[in-house]
Amino acid sequence: MTRYASILETIGRTPLVRLARLAPPDINVHVKVEAFNPMGSVKDRMALAVIEAAERSGTLHPGQTVIEATSGNTGIGLAMVCARKGYPLVVTMAESFSLERRRLLRFLGARVVLTPASEKGSGMLAKAIELAETHGYFLCRQFENEANAEVHSRTTAREILDDMQGEPIHAWVTGFGTGGTLKGVSRVLKAADPATRVVVAEPDNAPLLASGEVQPAGRSHTRFRPHLMQGWSPDFISALTQQAVAAGMVDDVVPVAGEDALRLARELARKEGIFVGISAGATLAAALQVARQAPAGSHVVCMLPDTGERYQSTPLFEGIEDEMNEEELALSRSTPGCRFDTPAPTPQPTAVPAARVTAAQEAVKDAEAERRLDDCLAQSPVVMFALAWCEFCWAARKLFARLGVDYLSVDLDSPDYQADDMGVRLRPVLARRTGAPTIPQIFIGGEPLGGCGELFEAWADGSLGERLAACGVAFDSGARIDPELLLPAWLHPRSTTA
Ligand code: PMP
Repeated sequence: MTRYASILETIGRTPLVRLARLAPPDINVHVKVEAFNPMGSVKDRMALAVIEAAERSGTLHPGQTVIEATSGNTGIGLAMVCARKGYPLVVTMAESFSLERRRLLRFLGARVVLTPASEKGSGMLAKAIELAETHGYFLCRQFENEANAEVHSRTTAREILDDMQGEPIHAWVTGFGTGGTLKGVSRVLKAADPATRVVVAEPDNAPLLASGEVQPAGRSHTRFRPHLMQGWSPDFISALTQQAVAAGMVDDVVPVAGEDALRLARELARKEGIFVGISAGATLAAALQVARQAPAGSHVVCMLPDTGERYQSTPLFEGIEDEMNEEELALSRSTPGCRFDTPAPTPQPTAVPAARVTAAQEAVKDAEAERRLDDCLAQSPVVMFALAWCEFCWAARKLFARLGVDYLSVDLDSPDYQADDMGVRLRPVLARRTGAPTIPQIFIGGEPLGGCGELFEAWADGSLGERLAACGVAFDSGARIDPELLLPAWLHPRSTTA
C-alpha cells in the first residue's frame, strides 16, 4: 500500500491481465487495462508528460492557460492534470462529439470552445492554434510532441516488460491515434527482444497504413473514411506514427471491422468482466487474429486504451435498454411484491414519533408547529415546504428558477428543522391545511396551491401566473417551458407500467 501526495502519482502502473475465456486455449493473451488510470484512459500518461515536459523546458509558465484540440480522452486527462496543477484549460471540440464529453470536461473545470461540425478535426485544431496565438496559451500538440512518445517508453513499455518477467513476447498489438503509444512502446520492446512483433490495428475502412500511401502535407489522407473507433486513426498519419513506421518498428498492419470491435468490447465485459471502450475491442480483435496464428504457448500483449463508461451514447450501447424487457418483466411478475402491474399502496402521512408525552404536552407542541407554519407563510408570498433531496421538489425548484420567482424554501429535512423535531411535527399540520400528506406543498399568498403536479398544471393553465401577479410577485410571464421535462427522467412516460 502506498499513500499518494497527488492524484497525478496514481497515473500508470496499470494491470496486465491474462484473458481466461476469449483467448485460444494454448495462447496467453495479456491485456493492458488502461482504464485503471485515474481518468480512465491511456491519455492520462500523455497529459501529465506533456505538461511536465513544458514546465521543465520553461515553455509553460505558472498559471498560463493550456489549450488543445481534442474530442475526448486527451482533454479529460489534461483537465485532471491542469486542475491539480492550477493551469486553466481550454479545449476546442467539434460540436458533433457527444454531450457527455463536453459536460465531463466542464465538470473538471475546463472551458470548451465548440467549432462547427462541418470544419471537422482540422477546424478544431485551427481554432486551438488561433486562440493560442492570440491569447498566449500553451498548445500541447499531442500529435507531434515527443513527450507523448517518451512517456510510453519510460512507463507503459517498462511496465509490460516488468510484468512479463522475462517471458518472451511474441507480439504486442496496438492501434494508433497520435501514435504516442505505438512509437514509445515499440522501440523499448524491440530493444529488449528484436523478435517481438509489433502489430498495428486500424479500421478496415480507413487503411491509412495498410495502403502504404504517404501522408500528403497539410491535407487529409486519401484513404481516410469516418469510422467507429473513436481515438484511433485520425484523418492523417501523425508525425509520431510516421516516425515509428520510418524506424521500421511496424511488422504487421491488421484491418479491423467495426462490428468486430463492438462485439469484442461487449465480450470482454460479459466473459472477462473487463469494461472497456470501442478501440479496446478493436485492438483485441487484431490481437486474437495474431493469437490464432501464433505458436502454442506464445504470449501476446494487447493494449486496452480506455473505459467503456464514456460510450453510453454510442453504438457500443446499442440495444442496451433503460426499461425492463419481456424476460425481466416476467421475472418481476414471478413474485408478488413491488410490481408495476399491481396498484402501489397509498402513501400514509408520516406519524409523529410515539414519545411518552401527555396529551396536553402534545397539544402545546402541535400549536407551536401551527405557529411555525404561519411564521413561514408570513415571510414570503411564495413558500415551498420541501425536502432537500426530493426529486419532485427539485423539479418545482427548476420551474421557479426558470420563471425567476423568489420563494422561501422550508426544507423539513434540513438541520434547521431538527430542533424539537419541528420538521416532523410540521408534516401533520401541513397535511391538515392542504388536505394532502405529500411533499412538496407550495403556498402562494398564504393559500395552498398543491404539490409539484399542481404547480405544473397551474403554470400550464395560466392560473399560476394570475396568482403570482395578484400577490405582486415578479416572474417571467413570457417564459416557454415544458414542465414535464423538468421531472426526473425515470418519470417520463414508461412502457413497462402498461
Ligand atoms: N484509443 C482511444 C480511445 C484513444 O483515446 C486514443 C488516443 N487518441 C488511442 C486509442 C490511441 O492512442 P495514441 O494517441 O497513443 O496513439
